Amino acid sequence: MQTWLVTGGAGFIGGNFVLDAVASGIRVVNLDALTYAGNLDTLSALDGNPGHVFVQGDIGDRALVARLLAEHRPQAVVNFAAESHVDRSIDGPAAFVQTNVVGTFNLLEAAREYFRGLEGEAQAAFRFLHVSTDEVYGSLGDEGRFTEETPYAPNSPYSASKAASDHLVRAYHHTYGLPVLTTNCSNNYGPFQFPEKLIPLVILKALAGDPLPVYGDGRNVRDWLFVKDHCAAIRRVLEAGRVGETYNVGGDAERRNIEVVKAICALLDQRRPRGDGRPRESQITFVRDRPGHDRRYAIDIGKIRSELGWKPSVDFEQGLAATVDWYLGNAGWAQRVLDGSYRLERVGQEA
Ligand code: NAD
Repeated sequence: MQTWLVTGGAGFIGGNFVLDAVASGIRVVNLDALTYAGNLDTLSALDGNPGHVFVQGDIGDRALVARLLAEHRPQAVVNFAAESHVDRSIDGPAAFVQTNVVGTFNLLEAAREYFRGLEGEAQAAFRFLHVSTDEVYGSLGDEGRFTEETPYAPNSPYSASKAASDHLVRAYHHTYGLPVLTTNCSNNYGPFQFPEKLIPLVILKALAGDPLPVYGDGRNVRDWLFVKDHCAAIRRVLEAGRVGETYNVGGDAERRNIEVVKAICALLDQRRPRGDGRPRESQITFVRDRPGHDRRYAIDIGKIRSELGWKPSVDFEQGLAATVDWYLGNAGWAQRVLDGSYRLERVGQEA
């Protein structure tokens, strides 16, 4: 049986990844600091499952990470842990530098030490996979797509901190021979996403009858990928990716923000019409643009598709409908996030 050390596994993508990994027979040691973005409710299906060991702690705590590596002897480290919200990085960049840069550095140091102590097949099989974003490439005009060769040009404190961590990961391969892999993915959506991000924010505000804030003119373009497809891509890269390489991951689904918001309104109007019968589009309000707001991201997934045979399996309209249905069917999960009670649950953890 394989054991993986997954960091940030109580967050949105990490949580989905841990649920899938444990279901497929991987033993997961899940290290998460449980910041505001960490939510153990997401993992409640794993309560009592010996395939999941949850540890509350910081990736920057090198002694703790060293102890976990020594004790559990994982075949892989998968690093999701990060501060991940662009708006928060504008208001308070320090936490982003601390976790995304200094934290990743400490995690790499612990992994390097552990890797050095491995021998033979165990050493050959070990992987350190770093999960990153396409935002490191900056902003595009109307044409073109990011490839793995696109120069880094991060514009927000969030993307700059992720770019810095990507560079450290790369350097640990070139300098110390650590067998690293990096994935740079576009915007994810799906179950268990914290409602500060566009899609769950709009779903929950639309249901509550609140104004639906859209930045600027709403014409900023993002590429969207269903979270389960991202998790499958990470699994594929872990399995067969070439050490030291980076792989772009995306959904081939570029949409303007305003189109996404209108599509959510239409889905909710069908499923749960407003009491007064008015369309939810009437709740849309345009708000002053985010400073330094990147205009367009688009990602070329040719490399992961041709080298590793991965491609997205869920198209955007299908995935969006499934996501809206998930939030309608899991109102309890969302309510506990909205009223803050999800933070009170801190049971079943190891350290
Ligand atoms: P998230 O904010 O939902 O979850 C982050 C998790 O990391 C939380 O559980 C949090 O408690 C934990 N964490 C934060 N600081 C920590 C620390 N110092 N030590 C240990 N744990 C810590 O984020 P997400 O959306 O699931 O993103 C996961 C990763 O994927 C991030 O690295 C992010 O940059 C990257 N990514 C996200 C997207 C997206 O659309 N959400 C797209 C591409 C890449």
